[in-house]
This record gives sequence, C-alpha cells and structure tokens, in this order.
Amino acid sequence: MQKHNFSAGPCVLPKEVLQKASESVLNFNNDNLSLLEISHRSKPFVDVMENARALALELLGLEGKGYKALFLQGGASMQFLMVAQNLLEKRAAYLNTGTWANNAVKEARIFDDILEVASSKDANYNYIPKGYDIPEDHDYFHCTSNNTIFGTQMKTFPNSPIPMVCDMSSDIFSRSLDFSQFDLIYAGAQKNMGPAGTTLVVVKEDILGKVSRKIPSMLDYKVHIGKGSMFNTPPVFPIYVSMLTMQWLKDLGGIAAIEKENEKKARLIYSEIDLNPLFKGFAAKEDRSDMNATFSLINDDLKETFETMVQEAGINGLNGHRSVGGYRASMYNALTLDSVKVLVEVMSELEHKA
Ligand code: PMP
Repeated sequence: MQKHNFSAGPCVLPKEVLQKASESVLNFNNDNLSLLEISHRSKPFVDVMENARALALELLGLEGKGYKALFLQGGASMQFLMVAQNLLEKRAAYLNTGTWANNAVKEARIFDDILEVASSKDANYNYIPKGYDIPEDHDYFHCTSNNTIFGTQMKTFPNSPIPMVCDMSSDIFSRSLDFSQFDLIYAGAQKNMGPAGTTLVVVKEDILGKVSRKIPSMLDYKVHIGKGSMFNTPPVFPIYVSMLTMQWLKDLGGIAAIEKENEKKARLIYSEIDLNPLFKGFAAKEDRSDMNATFSLINDDLKETFETMVQEAGINGLNGHRSVGGYRASMYNALTLDSVKVLVEVMSELEHKA
C-alpha cells in the first residue's frame, strides 16, 4: 500500500534519493565498497563533502558572498549553544516563537544576558509577534523561521541592525528568501535534507572571532571552517543523503520551483481546514506555516472514525505534538501534492459521513 508520510521529522525523503542512497550503502561509486566503509579522507568522500557544501551555498544564492557552509553534529539543539558560545559577548536579542526558540533562549542564557524582544508564549505560540524593536547595542538577533510544533512561519523578517541568526530547521530550501539578510543560518538535516545526524550551518565568516571567551575546538565555527568541515570524522551517511537531496532539488529547478509546489500543497490543506465545518486550524491565519499545518477536530466524537479513515488511506505521521494536540500535516519538500490530495479527500469524506 502506498504511504503518504506527513511525519514532522524525520520525514519523507525523495524516493530516488533513498534508492541511490541504499545502492551506495552496498556499492559506492561502482568501487565495490560501501560508502559506510571508506575513509572520510578518501577522495570519493571528500568530493561528497565539497559538493554538499557547495550545493548548500548555491541553492541559497550565497556563493561568493563571504559565507561558509558546514555540516556539523549535535543536531539543531547543539546550535542553540554554539551560536551563543561563538557570538555572544555581552547581550543578545531573541524572538520567542515556540518550543525550539525557547530552548535556544535557555541555552544562550548559560553564556550571558538574553533579551526576549517579543514572545507569543502566552497564546501557546499560535502566532508570530510583530512590531518589536531590535536594540543596536546587542551582539545578534536570533529567530526561528518555522515553528514545527505550532505550525507558524515568519513570512517577513525584521530589518535587523545587528547580525541576524536564524534556525531554519523545518523550512530550509522550501521558499525563496533573500538569504543574504542572515548572517548565520542553521538547520538540522532531518526535514528537508536527509537523515538525522548532521546539521547544516551557513555562516558569514566576518561575524566570527569577536568574542573574548575560549571556545572548545569542537564548538568553534572557525575551527570547522579551517578544516573544511572535517575537523573530526563527519557523519558520512547523513551528509551524503543531504547532498543527494540538494542535487535532487537543484535538478527540479531549485528553491523557486519547489516553493510553487509547497504553496499549492499549503493552499489545498488550509482551504479544506477553513471550508470543512468539522475542523479548525490552530495557527493565526496570516502566520500559517507552509510546512506544518496544525488543526483539530471541532467534535472529538469523530476522532476514532477520522483516525481509522486516515489509517486506511495509508496516511502516516499525522498526530499533533503533545503541546498542541489535534493533528499536524507536515508537508516538506519531498511530500507530493497527491499525498495532500489524499488527506483532503479523507477530511471531506468525513464531512459527508458525519
Ligand atoms: N529547531 C526546530 C525548528 C526544530 O523543528 C527542531 C526539531 N526538529 C529543532 C530545532 C531541534 O532539532 P534537533 O533534534 O536536530 O536538535
């Protein structure tokens, strides 16, 4: 039975990427060796790393603009502390839009003072705060472009007078933005790139080297840049699969092409949520995420029927996060419009049954 994978992460990856990745586990580059058993210093893997780093900058339109791409370990959660350790000298400004943004604040507070410029915590993060000020005398401003759990997404970014750092874990490579407005972007691989185990960091080199503290080597961006993202043994498989996914996206026409598909998917699901009297959306309409649509049944008596229908349709991973409840349809780059159509059909069938 065909599966429609709406999982929030790890999540759906392109079939052809999984096919190629599985072949490489057995026989990489037709060399009768597995990708998993060759040295990370061998030319075939160094080529993978270089290609992955170059593709990331190319897709974001950041080549030749002073940025470096790194593939690090420790997940996006490690970036919560690495960002602060490398950039926070006195005080930093954070926008608190969800659980992950809040975790980023918590980690940064280990190092120094943090100003929350705004927060939507009091409304269980169902909207993106707007109209806040970013003080000029702070070291950097941190925001989260897409709030995976709550299904909200920043549609515009502030004109920050200080370096802007963005956690793009759940919407990297999904929409066109002027990525040069950010000085540091990070994203765990396990949504739009590949398996969990590596995190993409894209950093403008000239913001580094300005803090007085000593930084442990493994946590120092400059050390990783100096070693071409090979300071220690990198997670070869997640990086290889990320490279394949970025190549897949480039072949499709890059971010601009996938953005159109993502918009179609989001329009379809949200129009069903709005028109179907059995469902209601969670996030404020103007802040709705194109990646994660959060919604619930108005009448919980239909829960069992709906969930049985969902299962029978081959839909996977639709349960909402425990802090929101209800359902969450995650529609990352590799999820097809057809899968969204299947979900919408089930929702509309429920309306006819009820
Ligand atoms: N930031 C965002 C926006 C996330 O969705 C997540 C979880 N997937 C994280 C950070 C934490 O990522 P990780 O599990 O890779 O540490």
